[in-house]
Amino acid sequence: MFSLKASTVVKDFFPSCEACRIVHSREIFCESCLLKLRFSGACKFCGQGGLSKDLEEVCLPCLSMGSAKQRMSISFFYEGGVRTWLKDIKQNGRPERFRELLLKHLPPQILSAQNYDWILGAASDPIQTKRRLFDPSDSLCRRLSTLTGVPFLKGVFDRHPFLHSQKELDRESRKRILRQTLVWKGSNLLKPHHRVLFVDDIVTTAATVESHLKLLKNKVSTVDVYALARTLKT
Ligand SMILES: [Zn+2]
Ligand SMILES: [Zn+2]
Repeated sequence: MFSLKASTVVKDFFPSCEACRIVHSREIFCESCLLKLRFSGACKFCGQGGLSKDLEEVCLPCLSMGSAKQRMSISFFYEGGVRTWLKDIKQNGRPERFRELLLKHLPPQILSAQNYDWILGAASDPIQTKRRLFDPSDSLCRRLSTLTGVPFLKGVFDRHPFLHSQKELDRESRKRILRQTLVWKGSNLLKPHHRVLFVDDIVTTAATVESHLKLLKNKVSTVDVYALARTLKT
């Protein structure tokens, strides 16, 4: 009886779940919110919902367009608690909150394929990095490296500054801007036989992923893609 009471008291000291803000949870999301936020039942490539959970990962149009060749895995929907968490990190300058990303949040595909030579991250806009005083892409890659044991190779891509916000731009405009600003820097450590895991934090149009993969083409043996979160198609 005593231990039950004690554990209840301890539980109350935990912060409330980032998503429901009700249940006290040792982890960022309580179990029931985690179930809702885990990316499942939607197309990994375009974000179309309505697929059967855990069975289909790619919608028919994406399958028929052949855009599903890439191995891609995603942890969360970019919704609710995931949105507030990532906004807190990026807008309020709290990169340490990437520590709340846990091994249990990673898709099984990544964990079973732990034979990557490197983790590579998407290049951030240098103006944003300067304003934030940190690079969220680097921070996420470091956290993934800690979780998986795969080393993070920094600085393989570089970005020239783009002076306007990309938030309102459509996929084609984003791609055009990325073509103009994204640069391959490479690294002596990266070899043609290497297998890499390319990491992006939030996938919306997938233009960022595509532009980086284009630069990686023929430079390494395989590339898998991991995104922390993906928006749903509206
Ligand atoms: Zn919750
Ligand atoms: Zn699709």
